[in-house]
Amino acid sequence: MSNYTHFELSFDDAGIARLSMDAKGRSVNVFAQEVMAELIEAVDEIVTRAPAGFVFSSAKPRGFIFGADVNEFALFASAAEIEAHIADVLACFAAIEGLDCPSVILIDGICVGGGFELALAFDRIIAIDDAACQVGFPEINLGLLPGYGGSVRAWDRMGPETALKLVLHGKPMKAREAFEANAIDHLVASRDDLAAAGREAIAGQIARRPAPRTADTAAMIEAERAALLARTSARNMPAPFGILDHYSVSEFNKDNMMKSETKLFSKLMMTPASAGMRRNFQLTDMVKKGGRGEHHVSHIHVIGAGTMGGDIAAVAAMNGFTVSLQDISAEAVDKAIKRARGLYERRLKAPEKVQQALARLRADAAGDRLADADLLIEAVAEDLKIKQSVFAAAEARMKPDAIMATNTSAIPLEEIGTALASPDRLIGMHFFNPVPVLPLVEIVYSDASDSTFVDRAMYVCGALKKLPVRCKSAPGFLVNRALLPYVFKAVEAVLDGADPDRIDQALVTFGMPMGPIELCDQVGIDVCLGAGQVTGISPVVAARFTAMIEAGDMGRKSGSGFYEWDGKKAIRPRGSYDADELDAIAADMLAPLVAECLAAVDEGVVGSADIADAACIFGIGFPAFRGGPLFWDESRAS
Ligand code: NAD
Repeated sequence: MSNYTHFELSFDDAGIARLSMDAKGRSVNVFAQEVMAELIEAVDEIVTRAPAGFVFSSAKPRGFIFGADVNEFALFASAAEIEAHIADVLACFAAIEGLDCPSVILIDGICVGGGFELALAFDRIIAIDDAACQVGFPEINLGLLPGYGGSVRAWDRMGPETALKLVLHGKPMKAREAFEANAIDHLVASRDDLAAAGREAIAGQIARRPAPRTADTAAMIEAERAALLARTSARNMPAPFGILDHYSVSEFNKDNMMKSETKLFSKLMMTPASAGMRRNFQLTDMVKKGGRGEHHVSHIHVIGAGTMGGDIAAVAAMNGFTVSLQDISAEAVDKAIKRARGLYERRLKAPEKVQQALARLRADAAGDRLADADLLIEAVAEDLKIKQSVFAAAEARMKPDAIMATNTSAIPLEEIGTALASPDRLIGMHFFNPVPVLPLVEIVYSDASDSTFVDRAMYVCGALKKLPVRCKSAPGFLVNRALLPYVFKAVEAVLDGADPDRIDQALVTFGMPMGPIELCDQVGIDVCLGAGQVTGISPVVAARFTAMIEAGDMGRKSGSGFYEWDGKKAIRPRGSYDADELDAIAADMLAPLVAECLAAVDEGVVGSADIADAACIFGIGFPAFRGGPLFWDESRAS
């Protein structure tokens, strides 16, 4: 038996080589470069010993192979370095594929990216028929395509249509779906059946799935290209366009496609879009980790069943908490529960799950369940006096270790806290509208807040599948502080005669979900004015907003604002403008947003530039492929 650090290799009496992967120090298998280097060595040894069969498996209880270690991608300094690394891996996978004996890989969990690329080099792929056993290519989410021959071998096994879908959309397939698509040769019921199926495969008793029918993919490629062009550009997102070109060949030629894949992969790795998306991946991971922990919350009481409170309650019950919902208006509670039903029907689908979630969500007009609550979330009107009276009344009825949270957008915790006997229990949980859709929650703390409550609120957000970031209680927290000066700058430019459509187009072209002027209308002119009065607003912009409000031009909700509105759509000319000019406008408009993020980091409102970038991506919709405003600003300068 030969022992490696991350693999165990053995040969039995019949000359069958068994290689089992167990990446040390990690809960799941990942192809860190060191691990890949060992795989190459182990495969060399196997080839040299000319086995009678080769069986690959994983020794991890979960996480078969998650692909490469994204954190290591930055180690490559040039396209040439990447190509050299790929050449070594391709040679290793080709050696497996070229073995003179049968080879089989036994998949018992998530097998994606480089892991699936490895699998495709084996004669037979066997997997467990279980929803948690999945294969796929998530590389597109990093602005890349598979680089270890996966885009080519996938075509070979599954045909161009399925391969292109997998590579282009990044959505993994469950084992059964993959079997039906010819990506997997054989399914077994459980992990216990894998070894026997492996022996059968080596004995030649398991057939390869049939070769896919050839398909004319030209129409599919054109449809995909049109869909892409409707939402982005090759300038912003080169990967999907590159992939379509890569698959736009009239005939499958393995060698040529391998070369094309390597060239495209190494080129994409050096693009700013991939750097931004890799950073977004790391930020997401970091923020998700911040939401993991023991929250000791099972019952949540929500006061205020309006737009925010109703949806917060619905999302909490959907995620397993029992929730009581209180409002001075019984109608508001009824409406909120009706909305919750709609949400559950859309998201949970199965009628019994819908019923279970609804059973967890209860109207509680008198606040009787406050005494059982481990967490109170207050979402009543944005009025200091009302909030103070709600908290003072609630505190007297609540358990001493229950968290008290306000969803205030702007009122300092310190002011609300004066109404409490124990202001240390008060924190902010600033959700964004619409709550079921927007992932960010700012967890706000003051000097008085007990850090244990802050931590627990972070963990509750994790359980709600939200992305929580810690923010010091300061005007606008992070998101509104960064967003509003950017919006106001655009409004000022319009007041100085700039064309609103041109500004909005510049920011949409940059990758924002919507331009700042349209956003202003969308949010409501009155809301923008109110928020600006907290974070700061220039007199001219405030005067213009006031005039608009007096004229009834409140934005989308009144049918007119900076634009006329047709229901949910702004009637905007969407002119076509010079690309360089749009770039310059976007950079100019975003300057205050960048400056506020920098100031918030300097002042310790958020803990780091990473958190500021993450909050802007998850809370504002700053384009993920730009990696966040501070990352974008810095990479622009370098
Ligand atoms: P809303 O007007 O839709 O709902 C407020 C609800 O509170 C109403 O149903 C009202 O009947 C109820 N209410 C008022 N006084 C009460 C009391 N004393 N006891 C019980 N219920 C009472 O308001 P909203 O938009 O949901 O905002 C709620 C809070 O969330 C505000 O602090 C707001 O600043 C904040 N917020 C709003 C948004 C947003 O986009 N709407 C986003 C983030 C934060």
